Amino acid sequence: MNCKITTIPGDGIGPEIVREACRVLDKAGQVFGHTFTYTEVLMGGCSIDKYGVPLTEEALETAKNSDAVLLGAVGGNVGNSRWYDVAPNLRPEAGLLAIRKGLNLFANIRPAYLYQELADACPLKKEIIGDGFDMVIMRELTGGLYFGERHTEEVDGVLQATDTLTYNENEIRRIAVKAFDIAMKRKKHVISVDKANVLDSSRLWRKVVEEVAADYPEVKLEHMLVDNCAMQLVMNPGQFDVVLTENMFGDILSDEASMITGSIGMLSSASLNETKFGMYEPSHGSAPDIAGKDIANPIATILSAAMMLRYSFDLDREADAIEAAVQKALTEGYRTSDIMAEGCTLVGTTRMGELIAGYIE
Ligand code: NAD
Repeated sequence: MNCKITTIPGDGIGPEIVREACRVLDKAGQVFGHTFTYTEVLMGGCSIDKYGVPLTEEALETAKNSDAVLLGAVGGNVGNSRWYDVAPNLRPEAGLLAIRKGLNLFANIRPAYLYQELADACPLKKEIIGDGFDMVIMRELTGGLYFGERHTEEVDGVLQATDTLTYNENEIRRIAVKAFDIAMKRKKHVISVDKANVLDSSRLWRKVVEEVAADYPEVKLEHMLVDNCAMQLVMNPGQFDVVLTENMFGDILSDEASMITGSIGMLSSASLNETKFGMYEPSHGSAPDIAGKDIANPIATILSAAMMLRYSFDLDREADAIEAAVQKALTEGYRTSDIMAEGCTLVGTTRMGELIAGYIE
């Protein structure tokens, strides 16, 4: 298979971690007989420095014309950077919003997986962790409360603010289809999260999700109210496989789920559109405090590259091999400084990338 990948290293640690993810992809390509061709574009502060804007039309076009995008991170030191002394739409992070919109990325997937080797970093008690957890949070990204009409007005001398939460059935259906497709690649269990006891939008959500479920008889569907889900995530995280939910609930639950893994440098993510196209990136930011020191953990980006293989290219075996190589590096006791523990071997960004690439077979 030949795959065209747009890489966006971005700012801070971005170039270091994307370089390692490409190293690992190349090794997977070599072992399994695929060619990955990269076109690099600028986004964020580095694009502001060169072109005066965080994302150029040309960079967006390049991304559109590829099969998938691999992103590092954008942004600088917010309190102390020339990139922030400008209007919000010219700041580095505006590039992120523009590319998500330009590529119509409506489905966000964030896995929360607990490596037994890193269980000490998990803030939950051992008896709650049990055999660990392995879930993905599937969040609708372009609708709901964050995109509804809003206004602030004065009514009878009192200030009043209104936000509206709107979903139409097509928006719900397309994200539900993605969630069930992904469940078919996993443990075939979808928990759809809503607030159907109160919200009309949630009742429509539930109805459409049930219609979609009828096309996936192998997948078990359950509904869960969002307040219960927030509790269940910290009481019994092992019960979840695919969590499907709308934008604001997903925003909150995906942060909660990622925090119970305890390690920011390990968290991958993907944003997909209606085709197989997706943008893959670590959940963390550009970490300007450690940039250029060869100490950043590249694993979140490497795992994002594995997601790219699985979801955009249907290369499940190859994605499994990358995930197994990450597991092996941890089992062998290699750690970057953010996940360092007693008795382990400290390695830098480059060495961790080399080790993981070396373990792909
Ligand atoms: P951050 O995620 O960059 O860093 C938070 C802390 O985690 C820092 O101490 C950092 O050193 C550490 N860290 C993050 N990634 C790490 C890794 N791979 N290995 C080891 N340690 C790691 O969040 P922040 O400091 O709030 O933001 C820094 C910049 O990143 C800001 O400009 C922010 O706007 C931007 N940001 C970008 C994205 C994105 O591009 N998607 C996301 C979040 C934040």
